Amino acid sequence: MKAYASEMVKKDSVFRDIAEKQETLWLNNKYLPFDTVDALCQLVVSDRDIEEAEKRLERFAPYIMKCFPETRETNGIIESPLVQISAMQRQLEKDFNTEIPGQLLLKTDSHLAIAGSVKARGGIYEVLKHAEDLAYEAGLLTYSDNYEKLADKEYRDFFSKYTVQVGSTGNLGLSIGIMSAAIGFKVKVHMSADAKQWKKDLLRSKGVEVIEYDDDYSKAVAEGRRLSDEDPMSYFVDDEYSVALFLGYAVAAKRLQKQLEGMNIPVDGQHPLIVYIPCGVGGAPGGILYGLKRIFKDNVHVFFCEPVLFPSVLIGMSSDLYEKANVADFDIHGMSEADGLACASPSGFVTRIDRNLLSGDFTIQDEKLYTFMRMLIDTENVRIEPSSCAAFIGPVSLTADEKGLSYLAAHSIDNDKLNNAAQICWATGGKLVPEEVWKEYLNK
Ligand SMILES: *Cc1c(COP(=O)(O)O)cnc(C)c1O
Repeated sequence: MKAYASEMVKKDSVFRDIAEKQETLWLNNKYLPFDTVDALCQLVVSDRDIEEAEKRLERFAPYIMKCFPETRETNGIIESPLVQISAMQRQLEKDFNTEIPGQLLLKTDSHLAIAGSVKARGGIYEVLKHAEDLAYEAGLLTYSDNYEKLADKEYRDFFSKYTVQVGSTGNLGLSIGIMSAAIGFKVKVHMSADAKQWKKDLLRSKGVEVIEYDDDYSKAVAEGRRLSDEDPMSYFVDDEYSVALFLGYAVAAKRLQKQLEGMNIPVDGQHPLIVYIPCGVGGAPGGILYGLKRIFKDNVHVFFCEPVLFPSVLIGMSSDLYEKANVADFDIHGMSEADGLACASPSGFVTRIDRNLLSGDFTIQDEKLYTFMRMLIDTENVRIEPSSCAAFIGPVSLTADEKGLSYLAAHSIDNDKLNNAAQICWATGGKLVPEEVWKEYLNK
């Protein structure tokens, strides 16, 4: 174990749990009221940046609708339903002998169009932005054009001169790969050892070049980044640093606000919103958290959920070592069933920008992922992949853990407010999982 890790383990039992790969809840020691960090945050990613991202996605909507007819229902906007899961809520309470106050909801990004995971937000956004930048600079496109024309042969020929590359544990590769191939880019996806075979097969079937590494996610990213930098026609989607990816994720917040309004679910001083998001390198949950904070400020409380084998964002933030932290520093090694969350080092960008905004981080054992997965199928008939199921550790543990209770007390969330709360589990992937793989999952 590294010296800093031993120090942390000695000082605080949370880090002993981490080193022992036990489930735990870390409360963010640097959490601050939103107004105190708002100005500083806006210097890095402003409300205006998020609005521009929303507008860009609207410009592309006619094109998306044309290439992906499944998005017709939502007019080319890639968005997922927010659904109440009260049967799941009751079953969780029963099986885990706990109380889940307020109403439990599921944000079904597991079923987002095109990529079938939360990566359809950030990944697709960044590919579209890159295509727009290239076409705009070449004088082939203005922002007031109907973007449908980007599907024409002339444009595809133009884009085919360019390559897009990305490092991925699976789902980011799917989202970048599918979208880039649709635009006409050449695509190379660098996949870590944790990536599932079906994700590689699916990508290859779309004409994507998949390069496999016998190593962890950070290595796949580093190698992809290096190879892309050598090629002037290549663009690297950098999950560890990309602001574009982050913006694509942040757009989720305003859309969620509309959905909550539509369901008559208030979020205010008397009605807290508590959100649990499965976390890998931190990009997707980090962008969503940031967007939510900008809208709901201190009335939203966001917790990340990480496998006990990969608490990389937890370690990166709590040690203030950011991207330099690695789970191996705590002598944690191994492969997780949560392939989408298997990141040994966190995003340096996200761990910094969200350092004062994240409420805390739950860790979860692999076996529980399958328990939650089956329970959700049995109670709500919704299938989400194991990584996604990490989110359920949040509502199950919040009021059962003394640190959870201390968080609620510190934020003056009494029982009345808690009973008014909306608790959202963010389902991050699942729609593209093939039937044979479901059989395997269901037999575990
Ligand atoms: C990528 C992914 C996440 C987490 O996103 P990060 O940006 O890696 O933190 C969560 N769930 C699933 C299914 C994913 O594919």
